[in-house]
Amino acid sequence: MTRGAPPLKLSPPLPLPSLYFSDPSSLDHDPRDLMPGHPESPPRLVAIERRLAATDWLGWERRPAPAASAAELELVHTPRHVAAIRELSESGGRAIDVETYAGPQSYRAAAHAAGGAAALARALLAGEATTGFSVSRPPGHHAEAERAMGFCLFDSIAVAAALAVAEAGAARVLILDWDVHHGNGTEAIFRERDDVLLITLQQEGIWPGTGLPEDIGHGPGAGFTINLPVPEGSGRDVFLSLIDRVVGPVATEFAPDLILISAGYDAHREDPLAGLALESEDFGQMTVEVRELAQRLGVPVGAVLEGGYAPAALAESVEASMRALGGAGESATAPETAVADEAAVRVSAYWPAVRG
Ligand SMILES: [Zn+2]
Repeated sequence: MTRGAPPLKLSPPLPLPSLYFSDPSSLDHDPRDLMPGHPESPPRLVAIERRLAATDWLGWERRPAPAASAAELELVHTPRHVAAIRELSESGGRAIDVETYAGPQSYRAAAHAAGGAAALARALLAGEATTGFSVSRPPGHHAEAERAMGFCLFDSIAVAAALAVAEAGAARVLILDWDVHHGNGTEAIFRERDDVLLITLQQEGIWPGTGLPEDIGHGPGAGFTINLPVPEGSGRDVFLSLIDRVVGPVATEFAPDLILISAGYDAHREDPLAGLALESEDFGQMTVEVRELAQRLGVPVGAVLEGGYAPAALAESVEASMRALGGAGESATAPETAVADEAAVRVSAYWPAVRG
């Protein structure tokens, strides 16, 4: 037996702070320049940040969202698309379609939005935190490899997921998209991949019309896209039951190294663009369930802002999600719903961990 110093007594590690990524360029992209009354506008972010500033950012560590490089954007977009958006901004900007716009500052704003999501993924995989949120605009999940649409120029969460696999050591990434609109861009980008699993909840039958249950991915990606459309009027019970019955078991079987949330808040009851019935605190509870899931799997979870067009409800809901990511709230007993029962039967055909 050796004699020496008494064994080192380790005090419990301090909890890591949650990380908040943002950049002021988000406020310089304003579709109202050409499209008066456009809902995807700077007041969305002003409402969020005013609310968070009033509570000292909930104690989160704020970090600058760096601009994604062209090479990073090209992990999921074609060089032609990246160049086209840049040239559009450099030439003063114009409408891309009836609702999507790129102005003089839009390339910069969208590059920082993608860069913030990517920096969040990097920091989480490096162990600098276990939870975080990238709060930027424009949103991203409708942008396809070579097409801007639905207010989106670059698919920020797709850049983050692709970079996590290509450069940050993740073998598998799970994206959970609960924006009320189908994340068609993210789906198209990862359709043929089995290392990025997309589970997307959306109101059935609304724009963009994609996201049908039978779309499950293609080739090696077959089974790695899970579309969960929900009927108009759906609220807390449907979302919590789908997270419990489908998202949890699939995530456990898939065993991701990172969970990313395409966090749109337009399924809120007050949102002007859709017809679902979530309350702000329901987004908090949904986030608690995903946080608990991530803890069970021993992996970090990061949220990336997508839609949400009632600014006060958006701000309240983002705060609810952030409080949950920061550790507040406990897992709730999930209700049973017919929507989740049907989805479970369907998904169990290719994910045996789901009880059909
Ligand atoms: Zn949306």
